[in-house]
Amino acid sequence: MSKRRDKRFMGEAYWLALWNYGLTGDNPSVGCVIVDKTGAVVGEGVTAEGGRPHAEQIALDEAGERAKGCTAYVTLEPCRERSTGEDACSKRLIDAGIGRVVCAVADKHPKGAGGFAALRKAGIPVLIGIKKDQVSWLYEAFFAEHS
Ligand SMILES: [Zn+2]
Repeated sequence: MSKRRDKRFMGEAYWLALWNYGLTGDNPSVGCVIVDKTGAVVGEGVTAEGGRPHAEQIALDEAGERAKGCTAYVTLEPCRERSTGEDACSKRLIDAGIGRVVCAVADKHPKGAGGFAALRKAGIPVLIGIKKDQVSWLYEAFFAEHS
């Protein structure tokens, strides 16, 4: 994947995150786009109103089997654990066979942080910081409250 393509799809994830900004309760609004090797979008999601399901969960459900080997573009680090006891997004991405994860912003929230480490431990390459300057304002209030 070229850097230009990474920026383009992160731009789409950002656009999705904007969609529910301010509507996701205690959870941050996250955008997720899943893209196959040909550059086709096979799944996309934004954190649902009220805060769940998470964006990655929605995008993975849409992609189904096609998620295998794809790149997942996510505006914020996928969560490491969920307060509800459901599968965390990092685990869902691993279980779906995602081939690579590109993120804009690392999570400072104690339950979110650690998602990158879980992905890398599973052998998935992670690229962090793509379009961070544009995306990070989305999470400033969330981090101020929770970190
Ligand atoms: Zn999550």
